[in-house]
Amino acid sequence: MTKHIFVTGGVVSSLGKGLTSASIGMLLEQRGLRVRMQKFDPYINVDPGTMSPYQHGEVYVLDDGSETDLDLGHYERFTNSPLSRDSNYTTGQIYLAVINKERRGEFLGKTVQVIPHITNEIKAAVKKLAGPDVDVVITEIGGTVGDIESQPFLEAIRQFALDVGKSNCLYIHLTLIPYLKAAGELKTKPTQHSVGQLREIGIQPDVLICRTERSISHDDREKIALFCNVPIEAVIEEKDKEFSIYEVPLSLRDNRLDDFICDRLKLPSTKPDLDDWHNLLHRLRNPKHEIAIAVVGKYAEHRDAYKSIYEALDHAGIAHEAQIRIQRIQSEEVEREGPEKLLAGYDGILVPGGFGERGIEGKIQAIKFAREREIPFFGICLGMQCAVIEFARNEVGLAGAHSTEFNKDTPHPVICLLDEQKTITDKGGTMRLGAQKAVLDPASRSATAYRAENIEERHRHRYEFNNVYRQQFQAHGMLFAGVSPDRSLVEIVELPEHPWFVAVQFHPEFKSKPIAPQPLFHGFIGAAIERKQVRGERAVEVS
Ligand code: GLN
Repeated sequence: MTKHIFVTGGVVSSLGKGLTSASIGMLLEQRGLRVRMQKFDPYINVDPGTMSPYQHGEVYVLDDGSETDLDLGHYERFTNSPLSRDSNYTTGQIYLAVINKERRGEFLGKTVQVIPHITNEIKAAVKKLAGPDVDVVITEIGGTVGDIESQPFLEAIRQFALDVGKSNCLYIHLTLIPYLKAAGELKTKPTQHSVGQLREIGIQPDVLICRTERSISHDDREKIALFCNVPIEAVIEEKDKEFSIYEVPLSLRDNRLDDFICDRLKLPSTKPDLDDWHNLLHRLRNPKHEIAIAVVGKYAEHRDAYKSIYEALDHAGIAHEAQIRIQRIQSEEVEREGPEKLLAGYDGILVPGGFGERGIEGKIQAIKFAREREIPFFGICLGMQCAVIEFARNEVGLAGAHSTEFNKDTPHPVICLLDEQKTITDKGGTMRLGAQKAVLDPASRSATAYRAENIEERHRHRYEFNNVYRQQFQAHGMLFAGVSPDRSLVEIVELPEHPWFVAVQFHPEFKSKPIAPQPLFHGFIGAAIERKQVRGERAVEVS
């Protein structure tokens, strides 16, 4: 029988529910359990695909092409839980499904209501992940207890324990224990209120994970346990991690959270095997190199907009025993200040994906700078399209070359709409999405990095390289290092004369893991370290 863990959050948002859920998943997996992970997002959008990165942060893409919340990225980086469309549900998706059933007449004349119809749909979404080959399903409820939007989800998970038996469910509540400087103490009242709200709707949490800046004293833990009606060993401290998010599972383990969970749910399991994680943290703490990478993007000021890219850079750093200092630079600033002032001194330049015209010329200038100064360059999705535009204008001699996304009347549309996109008008879920195969040129840097000639990576775009220009580009030294199996789409471009100039139409960052870095990130960081060693420069200051 599959056991269920529900993770809710209280007091404030941004407590790191996703990371905590992923860490729990990782600990249980390392104890030999088969885990599935899932997130419910209470907003009304059907998926985050149409939301601005300022609102939502990165859109994380799965193999099956679903556009999901970035917490699913944490799930994939920490666990081996297979993720699919069933791993992320929004209020919008749940209502859409119920309304479609109503239109088909499936409710046989009944009045369709939040309880039971919406809650049934939510429970069905949880049950989809259960099965004979699954020991534990971890379901994270987005938002904070008390939000109007969260109510149907909380009601559904309350009912869930009645359906499958209380002993098969465990409720974990992530909360904040703030430190009040003026009083010189930690405050437990917000947590008491948050748990009070949960209990009002009929959920008694089994475990409280307490985010805190300072260690929680035994007395405070006793107090929390008493007021929140949980045993003291279920009050788990999760102190802020200044060093690395990869410390979170180890600190939860130190607090014996996994022991408590397995005991409560009567899960047969062994002690977790955490050697790989200890090793990873050891490497993080004892770097042999230090390099600075500039990420030049439209949403650079937003920490979450390129989340998986920053993580993937770190993973490659771990493998090379290098500390990566990442400087986020807004491409518009490159337009204002010029690349020399902002980019000189970096060991590598990465231009990530994006949409919209703002800051495009800054990205193109940054790429020109990287190409001419022989600074390792990695372009991703829009970053690759900008690399193509830059090469067209400055090397092939195609003045005014552009993508038709930004200039419909360009004399040289070197990037244009994919054929399959030409008749699409809806915005949601209609791009070229998810895992696609590519074939690599065996002589390319990419093939060396992957140690393979056939790869599969995740996509999210509408535009592509315009094949009309292939020969001209080749004649000027660009290598089409990766193409779709039918050779109709360019997936990777490289400049073989350059120390490392690789740009890809896909999003390699989504498949990188802390203990298995994505090959192209690995290659890029390797090239950046090499450049630094050869030139022997001091690292630039990163703010
Ligand atoms: N805007 C570009 C396109 O749609 C690139 C998308 C991206 O970088 N994800 O093709």
